[in-house]
Amino acid sequence: MSPPVPFVDLKARVARLRGELDAAVARVLDSGWFILGPEGEAFERELAAALGAPDAVAVANGTDALHLALRARGVGAGDEVVTSSLSAAFSALAVLHAGARPVFVDVDPHTRNIDLTALEKNINSKTKAVIPVDLAGLPVDRDRLYAIAKKHGVRVIEDAAQSFGASWRGRAIGSFGDFVSFSFHANKNLTTTEGGALVLPDEALAARCEQWRLQGVIRSGEDGMDVEVPGGKFNMTDVAARIGLGQLPHLSRFTERRKTLVKRYFGLWDRSLGCGLPPEDFANSNWHMFQIVLPQGVERAGFMSRLRAAGIGTGVHYPAMHLFKLYRGMGWRPGQFPHAERIGAAIVTLPLFPSMRDEDVDRVCDASRKALA
Ligand SMILES: *Cc1c(COP(=O)(O)O)cnc(C)c1O
Repeated sequence: MSPPVPFVDLKARVARLRGELDAAVARVLDSGWFILGPEGEAFERELAAALGAPDAVAVANGTDALHLALRARGVGAGDEVVTSSLSAAFSALAVLHAGARPVFVDVDPHTRNIDLTALEKNINSKTKAVIPVDLAGLPVDRDRLYAIAKKHGVRVIEDAAQSFGASWRGRAIGSFGDFVSFSFHANKNLTTTEGGALVLPDEALAARCEQWRLQGVIRSGEDGMDVEVPGGKFNMTDVAARIGLGQLPHLSRFTERRKTLVKRYFGLWDRSLGCGLPPEDFANSNWHMFQIVLPQGVERAGFMSRLRAAGIGTGVHYPAMHLFKLYRGMGWRPGQFPHAERIGAAIVTLPLFPSMRDEDVDRVCDASRKALA
C-alpha cells in the first residue's frame, strides 16, 4: 500500500531545511539570548523588507497580532467589529478579548470570503474596525474593501493569517493597507512553530504596539521605566524568529510548488461529482489550502472517513462561527448567514503542502471520486 497522504505534513514541510534550521537554532541557544534579542529584530526587519512593508512587530502568535491591532486601534467596550462567520475562531475571539462585540456577516459563495456588500451594510456609528479574512490564502478584494473603509471612516485589520506570501494585483499582502495580521502557526505557509506578526502603516503605531506587546513598559535612558498602558506578554522568542528567518528565502519556491499542485488538482478533478471548487486564482492566492464543498446530500463525516481508510487525511476549515454555543448565547441564530452555514457544513480541506508529490494529488482525486460514487 502507498504511504499515507496527510492533509498537511509538518515534518516534511521543514525536512529539507532541517540542517540549516538546526544549526541556526543551535546558534541562538548557544548565544544565551532567547527573547527580544538580535534574531527577533532581524526577523522583523527581513519580514518588513520581504513584504516591502513600513514596519513589522513580531509576536507570539497570530491571535496576539489581532489583539495588538485592536488595542492600537483603541477598540474596547461598546465598540463593534464586523467580521466573517466563516473563519478560524480566533478572528472573533480577539474582538471579545478586547471587550468589543463581533458582528458577523455572510460570505460570498464564490470566494468564500466576507461578503463586502454585507460588510458595508453592517457598518454603523459603533463600528470601530472591520476584520476581513483571506480564507485559504485567497485575498479579499482590497480595492473594494479599502474604498468602503475610507467612505465610512473605519480602520481595517486584515486577518491575513493564511495569506502570507499572497498578493493583490501584484502587490504583496502586507505591503499596503492598515493593520495586517499574520500567523506563523505550525500549519501556516511559513511557520515559526508558533508565532505571528503585525504589519503597520507607520512607525508611531508600531511603537505603540511594541508597548502593548510587553507589559506596557516604556524605557528611557539607562534606568528609566514607566508603564503607560495595561500591556500583555505577546513577544516572539528568538528561537522562533530564527526558524522563521530560515524559511523566508524559500517561501516563494514553496508557494510556486503549491500552485503547481493545485493546477494538477484542477486538471484531474472530476467536475461531474458536483463539488464546489475554489476560484482558479493563480495571480493573488498563496494557496494555503485547497478546499472543496461537497454537493448537497453527501454526508461529510462519511466522505472524510472513506478517504481516511484510503490513507488520505482531510480537515474542516471551518464551520460557520456564529453557530458556536458561545455566539448563540449572544443571540446569533441558524439561518442568518445561509452561504456560510451551507459552506461551513460541507467544506473539506484536501491535502496540500510543498513536499506533496504529483502522484499524491492523483491519488486524492481518485479516492475522492470513489468516495463520492
Ligand atoms: C491561524 C489563524 C489565526 C490565528 O493564528 P495563531 O497563530 O494560531 O494564533 C487567526 N485567523 C485565521 C484565519 C487563522 O487561520
